[in-house]
Amino acid sequence: MVEIKTPEQIAKMREAGLIVAEALKAASEAAVPGVTTGELDAIAKKVIEGHGAKSNFLGYHGFTGVICASVNEEVVHGIPGDRVLNDGDIISIDCGAIVDGWHGDAAVTVFVGGGHGPELQALSATTEGSMWAGIAQVKKNNRLSDISRGIESFIRRQPLPPRGKYGIVEDYGGHGIGSAMHMDPHLLNYVDRRRGRGMKLVPGFCIAIEPMITLGTPKTHVLEDEWTVISNDGTWSSHWEHSVALTEEGPFVLTAFDGGKAKLAELGVTVAPDPLG
Ligand code: MG
Ligand code: MG
Repeated sequence: MVEIKTPEQIAKMREAGLIVAEALKAASEAAVPGVTTGELDAIAKKVIEGHGAKSNFLGYHGFTGVICASVNEEVVHGIPGDRVLNDGDIISIDCGAIVDGWHGDAAVTVFVGGGHGPELQALSATTEGSMWAGIAQVKKNNRLSDISRGIESFIRRQPLPPRGKYGIVEDYGGHGIGSAMHMDPHLLNYVDRRRGRGMKLVPGFCIAIEPMITLGTPKTHVLEDEWTVISNDGTWSSHWEHSVALTEEGPFVLTAFDGGKAKLAELGVTVAPDPLG
């Protein structure tokens, strides 16, 4: 069963989403050469606790951070710790928060220092762009697979990177979110025709949309730490995520400061008014 939220519940998720946005902003700005992923975790933790919110990552199946910090060939679920960021690295920072039992979840890819070539620029831009293309499909009477198609078709439209190809990671995907961080339905980042069109999207539907793309293989495996997911061929990857609500008045991006207004305007989509008024 897919949980359908009331406007009041979506407002709580917006509160959580804004805290996630602030935590990600602070951690992203701190992601410079010489800083450890553990220090980024402490910065995000301070923001979450400063708002009196709770982390949904900390303690999740024993996870020890409030962020996932996934560097270079690490795709997702990297454990924050002693790893020092180097000039030229890219890092996915993923973070979540709970307010009064309602969850938010988002991730960004950040360039550490400088000197990132066009291939990495395009990798991150393609991943982020595919997320927004998926978000643009969150509308009444669309189906779940329309979001997947929006994501995949955006990626397929991009020029291939100069030294490779894009691998759309299939082992992980988006997810319903609300009274728990991970809920039904699971959202593929590609179209699988065998699965049909999926559920019809109705007001009150909330989904975390999170494409993960590598510069090579879509195949991944988990390291011995039982968390960190890396690409099988060691190619670097990007990961972007937002939590999105569908309301009677259209989509609203709960984890974006502006609700997604600027990015969705470029795609011809008008966002709903802020659930917090
Ligand atoms: Mg996340
Ligand atoms: Mg997520």
